[in-house]
Amino acid sequence: MTYSVKEIYFTLQGEGAHTGRPAVFLRFAGCNLWSGREEHRSAAVCRFCDTQFVGTDGPGGGKFDNASKLAAAVTAAWPSGAENRYVVCTGGEPLLQLDTEAIEELHSAGFEIGVETNGTIAAPDGIDWLCVSPKANAEVLQTTGDELKLVYPQEEVEAQPERFADMDFKNFFLQPCDDARQDENTRKAIDYCLGHPQWKLSLQTHKIVGID
Ligand code: SF4
Repeated sequence: MTYSVKEIYFTLQGEGAHTGRPAVFLRFAGCNLWSGREEHRSAAVCRFCDTQFVGTDGPGGGKFDNASKLAAAVTAAWPSGAENRYVVCTGGEPLLQLDTEAIEELHSAGFEIGVETNGTIAAPDGIDWLCVSPKANAEVLQTTGDELKLVYPQEEVEAQPERFADMDFKNFFLQPCDDARQDENTRKAIDYCLGHPQWKLSLQTHKIVGID
């Protein structure tokens, strides 16, 4: 399989339970809930996306002919000789492309594998940390995992926290929506967590400290 990758870079995970952990971000191109083009945003299923995932022109991005070459590119982004290798497969929607072969090659290269998915595609086996982030009224097929991270608030009835509270996740996070009402969204997320202690607040710390 040929993998289309927007970018590969080394940074800190900014969100969720692994906040602050060094990781290679492997951003796959493409998403099934928005084309990524501004002229399509208002009609998309997911309309608050803050990520550039179109094309393969980002740092470290490109087309990789096979899983071995993909894993080699991820390895090249990790500091030479450093242990505790961790890769976050994201997008776009990474499960449009991340397959068993890529998982095996990344494991062979010594990486623990995290995935950030919108939950509309069932995840393959072998993922070490699975984060599901439901969007709008998109049907969630992946109902188990390590963390459920919900951008909050979302107007659709299908995207209210109560819809997910009984799913089989170890961690439940609310993350304030980063739009023009971010302060208000943050207050609402805090209030919801205080009233429903199953949920924890997730902040986009990479934006706070000014890293990618
Ligand atoms: S599902 Fe994720 S990558 Fe796709 S449009 Fe929404 S926020 Fe962006």
